[in-house]
Amino acid sequence: MYPHGPWGPATAVQRGSVQFMFKYPGDALTPGIASRPNLPESQRIPLDQVTSLPKIPSEPLSYHDASPILEHLSGPDAPREWQGALPFTYHVGPGVKVHIVLKMDYQYRTIWDVIGTVAGSEFPDEWVVAGNHRDAWVYGAVDPNSGTAAMLEAVHGIGVLLQQGWKPKRRIVFCSWDAEEEGLIGSTEWVEDHAIQLVHAVAYFNTDVGVSGPNFDASAVPSLKQFVRDVTKAVPSPKGGTVYQQWKQHQADAMAHRQVGVEEHAGRGNAHVDNDVTIGDLGSGSDFTPFIQHLGVPSTDIGSGGPYGVYHSVFDNYAWFVMNADPTFVYEQEMARVFGLEALHMADADVLPYDYVTYGKELSSYLDTAQKKAQDAGLTGLDFAPAKAAAEKFTLLAKQVKEKQEHAASDSSEALAALNTQLRAVEGDFLTEPGLPNRPWFKHTIYAPGEYTGYAAVVIPGVNEAIDAKDLARAQAQLTVLTDALNRANATLEAAAK
Ligand SMILES: [Zn+2]
Repeated sequence: MYPHGPWGPATAVQRGSVQFMFKYPGDALTPGIASRPNLPESQRIPLDQVTSLPKIPSEPLSYHDASPILEHLSGPDAPREWQGALPFTYHVGPGVKVHIVLKMDYQYRTIWDVIGTVAGSEFPDEWVVAGNHRDAWVYGAVDPNSGTAAMLEAVHGIGVLLQQGWKPKRRIVFCSWDAEEEGLIGSTEWVEDHAIQLVHAVAYFNTDVGVSGPNFDASAVPSLKQFVRDVTKAVPSPKGGTVYQQWKQHQADAMAHRQVGVEEHAGRGNAHVDNDVTIGDLGSGSDFTPFIQHLGVPSTDIGSGGPYGVYHSVFDNYAWFVMNADPTFVYEQEMARVFGLEALHMADADVLPYDYVTYGKELSSYLDTAQKKAQDAGLTGLDFAPAKAAAEKFTLLAKQVKEKQEHAASDSSEALAALNTQLRAVEGDFLTEPGLPNRPWFKHTIYAPGEYTGYAAVVIPGVNEAIDAKDLARAQAQLTVLTDALNRANATLEAAAK
């Protein structure tokens, strides 16, 4: 344990937001609208009507402080899966009285997002947005400053290119978000403020826990998974070869040793339908959430991980970073190159590089899994056929569109612009205006953070959560909502294929 190694010492406290981000992130008083200073008070909801804040107070403890409380609990033994690693048997209580004093501090505070833009020369209204948060629970050497260091170096590189006379075809927007840790507040309010412009945003690239070790990892919407792989094939790894080769090797080794969980980043799932490097699904816990799940902007999240036992504690400091994460800053350079190339390639692409064939395959696999889960739960009578047929059709149309993408680079600029607009619109077709049941802020029908899974993603959330609740009527209704979304996307793909 630190200061001898990467793991948290006994006095480490892992802070974290207690906001119900699965309901909605951002300013708790302004869901769906930007919390600008001049917003009339009448447009802010009263504190007692807020659904995104818990009513039970809580206090994070170090295991140094929790140990005497746990040790003196009596009563029955805790279930096996509740037994921890402290050297005594855990009991469920009673046996201990604890006097806790908590001071709650509700106030309006000003936060600052710092936004830097480069104008686009050919498609000025198409934005490539890239960001990382700047606020930290304490010192935040890894979370977020290792990501910010890489982002600022990418910005530096783009500045050098601009001095040499280069201009991006699309507008590039770099964002340093504030108040992420309290509930994705800076990014959510900015996204709500720019909802109209972001309909034309071609991508949002996130990084957060930028470098906590030497192992590159990523999450993305299916349409950008191959894009992320391609970018990592263009960047050298400090370990030799390319980032892509080392990433693939690490996943193979981890699979062999079944230790994936140790280094898995927050919010990264396991869905994969091809035999390539696995890229996780976007759940929550970082600033991509408002972009993909509220507005349908295709998003990615990248980082370089390792044993990181000081997350959200006072020990996430510079001394820990240079001892454990990246002593010579070579992985910082790697992250700057990957992050910068994501922005450059997307800003200058003639044909937007979305891969909808992979998206279609994943959609079919999500539906197969949900159908099996419904059968296992005894929910008979659910009609999956229309949704499955729509997903199959999506993949077929996507293959035609892929042909078109491969041969479109020589098209006239008007034809290219029209094709790119259609390609981008597909992700927007997955949004449903009423939002998910019980949480209307979340509008994406394919991805959401789970109501009960913390940071992790739930796929086709409307359908899966209705099945989990054994609510047949809601499950059927949500299958219809999903089918409608897929049919909208199919109409867009069909137009693009012509
Ligand atoms: Zn963070």
